Amino acid sequence: MLKRILIANRGEIAVRIIRACRELSVETIAVYTESDREELHTMLADRAVCIGRDRPESGYLNMENIIEAAKLTGCDAIHPGFGFLSENPRFAEMCEENDIVFIGPNSSVISLLGDKIRARQIVSQAGVSIVPGSDGPLPGIEEAKQCARKIGYPVMIKASAGGGGRGMRRAESEEELENAMMEAKTEAEVSFGDGTIYMEKLITDPKHIEFQILADSFGNIIHLGDRNCCVQRRNQKMLEEAPDFRLSDEMRTKMGRDAVLAAKTAGYENAGTVEFIVDGSDYYFIEMNTRLQVEHPVTEMITGTDIVKQQIRIASGLRLNMAQQDIVIRGHSIECRVCAEDIYNDYAPDPSEINFLHLPSGLGVRVESALYSGMRISPFYDSMILKVITYGDTRLEAVRRMRRALGETIIRGCKTNLPVLQLILYNREFLRGDYNTGFMEKHGDHLLELYDAAGGRLNESV
Ligand code: ADP
Ligand code: ADP
Ligand code: MG
Repeated sequence: MLKRILIANRGEIAVRIIRACRELSVETIAVYTESDREELHTMLADRAVCIGRDRPESGYLNMENIIEAAKLTGCDAIHPGFGFLSENPRFAEMCEENDIVFIGPNSSVISLLGDKIRARQIVSQAGVSIVPGSDGPLPGIEEAKQCARKIGYPVMIKASAGGGGRGMRRAESEEELENAMMEAKTEAEVSFGDGTIYMEKLITDPKHIEFQILADSFGNIIHLGDRNCCVQRRNQKMLEEAPDFRLSDEMRTKMGRDAVLAAKTAGYENAGTVEFIVDGSDYYFIEMNTRLQVEHPVTEMITGTDIVKQQIRIASGLRLNMAQQDIVIRGHSIECRVCAEDIYNDYAPDPSEINFLHLPSGLGVRVESALYSGMRISPFYDSMILKVITYGDTRLEAVRRMRRALGETIIRGCKTNLPVLQLILYNREFLRGDYNTGFMEKHGDHLLELYDAAGGRLNESV
């Protein structure tokens, strides 16, 4: 087993990883930037090392400093969490060069799957269906027009290096195509330093359903069931649940098999997620994320498996201690991503000081957070500050428990998206469980209006 792990991340996910390490008696080294000195992860880890200033390239993205910190503190592994360096093949390679275990797949697999065009090609060759689209990158407008005529409008232009919902633009018709390409390309260049774009048919209001994968270094690969991540704003997830309420057993079995096949084809190792979009009884692979995911807790709740511990076991060279038939899905789980945002100002981040905090608890409630009263939320990083997860024997129980848990959550000093999350839990369409990725576009503004009209009170008429 690994002995000492450096956690190259911050916030709730760094705390989540420290928890798993503690229970495994693995020592932890936190890293932090100058203004993050007082963050919770620096206090909970066995040791903490400053790695630089707050600008991303000199802090949590500073590969040299992080590797140096790992060497100086005698770490045998680095856990990258999500975001930051978690999907950076060069960083995984630097770990390999320095004899440090990178907790994730190897650098060539990260590089292969991080290139969405290549990922589409290899999984499709293995027989997994992908969204109809371009065979490779789009070199120019003429090729794009030709491809769009073949697959039919509307289409989606996507960045091959894309992530976090960025570098993606729709085009409803040929007139919109050039502009969509330019916008997607520019955003991709700015965000990912790579402007390569490709085309997919735009599936109207699909469902986003993904499968959690675990793969060891002996070629054993299993999945831990599905998650529904349809509540999205600007293609970014807000609330997730597992399992999907409406998926037939037949589709679940087929999709799970394809998810494992996709991972196997890529030579995958460690934890990962295969994402699909679902249109009626058709489903299409969209990408594979080569890291721990924000929403991993809902899978942990319904399978009783600690995914972070599994990651550490796998990276230690241990065999998977369970087979596919051992995975039993029990009950239902929901996660809400609480963000420090002003919902009345286009969800602009509100990094203020938290002057009073009360987090929910009680039966079936789990909190993943790095918050404490009196802390200042950093303006330099993601606005997600807290995850509230509930478990119930049934979906309805998980929903009612989440309403209760969010109701108990008191955060004073900064604005949050809590009211919107609460309103979703009262929405009839959501309650029926047959909503899709168009949910927030359809209901987002309306939810707020109803909330205002009711003077901030919640009821089931939304
Ligand atoms: P998921 O929720 O499926 O794990 P997301 O795409 O929402 O994946 O991203 C997970 C985390 O990583 C989020 O906190 C997000 O801000 C961050 N993230 C994703 N892509 C990028 C990126 N290209 N650059 C910086 N952070 C990113
Ligand atoms: P990212 O890497 O940013 O997570 P994804 O390819 O996973 O990008 O897509 C993110 C979300 O965008 C999906 O969950 C879905 O809601 C939407 N999306 C992506 N591709 C399509 C498509 N071809 N048609 C419709 N919606 C799509
Ligand atoms: Mg995705």
